[in-house]
Amino acid sequence: MSSDARPDGGDVNLDPAVEPGAPGIFFIICAPSGGGKGTLIRRVLKSVPGLAYSVSWTTRPPRPGETDGVSYYFTTEQDFEQRRDRGEFLEWAVVHGNLYGSSRAVVEKELAAGRDIVLEIDVQGAAAVRQLMGEAVGVMILPPSFEALRDRLLARRTEATGTLALRLSNARGEVARYTEFDYLVLNDEVDRAAKQLAAIVYAERARRARQEWLARRVLATFPEAPPDV
Ligand code: 5GP
Repeated sequence: MSSDARPDGGDVNLDPAVEPGAPGIFFIICAPSGGGKGTLIRRVLKSVPGLAYSVSWTTRPPRPGETDGVSYYFTTEQDFEQRRDRGEFLEWAVVHGNLYGSSRAVVEKELAAGRDIVLEIDVQGAAAVRQLMGEAVGVMILPPSFEALRDRLLARRTEATGTLALRLSNARGEVARYTEFDYLVLNDEVDRAAKQLAAIVYAERARRARQEWLARRVLATFPEAPPDV
């Protein structure tokens, strides 16, 4: 069976051609804490070619298993504030009592390399980036319910009781801002949700505005006069 005839569509290359030199696409992904976006994003980064992750800076202490420079660049408040004052962040925000910021240098490096970029940031950061880059694509990951979110956060065992309560009480306000996003993905089942997220990336790459160069190239192969057949 040829790979593009697979009934599950698993091996079909869905990637449209990218115009040489075209700027990358900004994907902003938001979810309340415990929404499972980390796992989801890791899957999509693995399965979709040409997609880079913007590693943020934070003053939050690392959780077990988190690596500096991979999960985040972990730093002190003083260092964060100095970087912020030097303009090193594309956006920054206080989230659940800690400072978080997206590195301008990381984003610029990836875009210069022609890659699309995923910013996994909170709703305040998302609004700031949208102001800066009107073309950014916003995706909100929704948990199936409040109970599911609470159970997931509890099972993760990464937060102290106080932080856990703070994260849960902030979650409603985050989800309520769903209208600010272009796409909503329900994270009820990670495989399904990861496929949906990948589909969003492919759909954005196939937008007419990003494929017009291809249409012009195809059109140029058509004779202007009625063809001799
Ligand atoms: P966590 O501490 O669970 O890794 O992240 C807490 C929240 O901070 C999440 O909503 C996450 O998306 C957000 N966050 C992570 N990096 C950034 C960033 O660079 N900027 C902003 N504004 N939020 C961020």
